[in-house]
Amino acid sequence: MSSAPGIAVIPVPIPYPFKYVNCYLLLGDGAVLVDCALDTPEARPALEAALAQHGLKFADLDRLVLTHHHPDHYGLAGLIEAEGVPVYLLDVELERGHPFWTQPEEMARAGLELFRRHGVPEEALSNLGREMEKTRSRVHPPKNPRTFRDGEVLELAGQRWRVVWTPGHADGHAMLLRESDGVLLAGDHVLERISPNIGVWAYSYPNPLGLYLESLEKAKGLEVSLALPGHYRPLRDFRGRIEELAAHHQERLDYLLGLMNGQPKTCWELSLKLFPGELNTAQRRFAWSETLAHLEYLLHAGRIRKETMGETIGYRL
Ligand SMILES: [Zn+2]
Repeated sequence: MSSAPGIAVIPVPIPYPFKYVNCYLLLGDGAVLVDCALDTPEARPALEAALAQHGLKFADLDRLVLTHHHPDHYGLAGLIEAEGVPVYLLDVELERGHPFWTQPEEMARAGLELFRRHGVPEEALSNLGREMEKTRSRVHPPKNPRTFRDGEVLELAGQRWRVVWTPGHADGHAMLLRESDGVLLAGDHVLERISPNIGVWAYSYPNPLGLYLESLEKAKGLEVSLALPGHYRPLRDFRGRIEELAAHHQERLDYLLGLMNGQPKTCWELSLKLFPGELNTAQRRFAWSETLAHLEYLLHAGRIRKETMGETIGYRL
């Protein structure tokens, strides 16, 4: 499937509700892969088969470029690097996202402490630990990653791509814009069917939702003719989708404020109300971190207060 001149989209199956991650193969003067799925028995052969359709193996790629460090975009990077392919990501992501995989003990400890302080019960914590172990076994961090900077123009397969730093979904999330025709590799900044997860994690910036909303504004200012996202279909009405996403977060903030009268409540308690219904362990973790991002946004905006309640932290109006 071709999506724009010089770009082939490669949907790779992943074990998440999205079902696929879109990797993009830039072709022209050489070949560059953007994002790479994670190491599952399905994903790696699917990616290899798609490359083979273009007569390519991993070793033939000039570069692998990563939009951000999440497992479904980054997981195979170390294996592809081992084939002699240099791996590139934004300097901010090297500093802030990459360590999540290279310092697992420290990150697990910090994560656990944050979950506990925000009211996550012990039973949910042990499920979360097991879930994370499974993910870690499917992720191979690159050993010698190289970096690019916000605003830099990269020459990829003979095409010129401008780097656009859009923190929010990940601290060092980067989009790539081909200014000659307005084609944007959007990563997970703007998606068609769902609102990309914006969460507070132990290692992330303290107010990711604030950054995300700013990044949406930044993206709105770009001349985009076609946005090619990390999941789901291409977006023609990029600005329209940005407005929907911004409105969705405003609604969620208002709803959360409505839940907050009376006694202080933990992030966990509020997340059960904001995201009711049956969710699996991974989804509950995302729901919790998304709730925390909204709470911290309201806190930074001076709309709510934070209180220590023994071992845990509560939020109140
Ligand atoms: Zn992501």
